Amino acid sequence: MNMRSYFAQFDENVNGFTLEQTDIPALQSGELLVRNSYTTICRSDLYTFQGKRKEKNPTILGHEIVGHIVAMAPDAQPFDIRGKVLEIGDRITWGIYASNPNSVYAAKGIPQKAEDLFKYGHEQITADSTLHGGLAEYIILRKNTPIIVLKTDALPDHVASLVNCSVATVAGAIRLGGQLNGQTVLVSGTGMLGIIACAMAKIAGAKKVIAVDADQERAMRALSFGADLALGADLKPFMLEGDYTQSTSLKVDVVLEFSGMPDAMVSTLELLDVGGTAVWIGATFPQASIPINAEKMIRKVLTIKGLHNYNQNDLVDAVSFMEAEYKTYDFGDLVHGGFSLDQTTAAYRYAIDNNPFRVGIDLSIKIQQHG
Ligand SMILES: [Zn+2]
Repeated sequence: MNMRSYFAQFDENVNGFTLEQTDIPALQSGELLVRNSYTTICRSDLYTFQGKRKEKNPTILGHEIVGHIVAMAPDAQPFDIRGKVLEIGDRITWGIYASNPNSVYAAKGIPQKAEDLFKYGHEQITADSTLHGGLAEYIILRKNTPIIVLKTDALPDHVASLVNCSVATVAGAIRLGGQLNGQTVLVSGTGMLGIIACAMAKIAGAKKVIAVDADQERAMRALSFGADLALGADLKPFMLEGDYTQSTSLKVDVVLEFSGMPDAMVSTLELLDVGGTAVWIGATFPQASIPINAEKMIRKVLTIKGLHNYNQNDLVDAVSFMEAEYKTYDFGDLVHGGFSLDQTTAAYRYAIDNNPFRVGIDLSIKIQQHG
């Protein structure tokens, strides 16, 4: 019997998603077939849906995914990236990309920039490749995809799904921020990634974590996820606490910038103490250029680093962090779930209208047959 998979197809010419079905093809060399259990909708997915961002289409969106291995090609990789033997039934997450591990960029620690890059949830549907996104019952993982088995079944699906975009990207940002132990870390933009960054910075030993967001509710929410202080876009406290009320000059060692707002990048750079580092992650959309004072950069010995996506080690760090800390911080509380695959359009509209941190699609919910 041929196995089939439902999927939500995104086509920019259609006002929303259409529920489609396809035969699941025989696995090619190195491939794995995975039954998706849960997909959370990343902000970039919303931008694509709204036309703010261009993706080759028709496509299957969704790249924050968790699932189970259903089948493996005979020559599929035998181990996950932590060295565990891969088996049918394993609950896994994976890198959002497959790319040549021997590429020039992989050697530089940025395999996500290799020439042959294939990105799940970002590829066009073609005659011989359909199931490559999270808004589907099944996904086919290619050769050279970093795969990782989750060690605990207690980690809920709607939290585990955050790992392979949000948490892994934050893990990359934390890596670039350097040694955070005893440091003052400012997190600019407390959407899903910023919230996770507050928690990861705290767990990494940061002395003080400062959350900055123009939205007071979002900034204050970070206080439940490791932040010690919440500031508005004007860098003034929403609440009066501690020595910051007396201090006119806030100094930080590391800035992790997730808002992508030019003003925020400039104003938070100003707060860096001598030897400080700013990591810019948020500005993944067309930007105006910003003024940077070269003399200050030099005299204060500052560093600015950019990060897009993440590498394999970041994915390992992300999974290890979630496995260890999912009970410490209630990330699940930030995910508004309950949508099934055939409710994908409604889920996207809900996300845009209500702006929760994340909206989740539960792919284990049985699809209603539409006549
Ligand atoms: Zn994403």
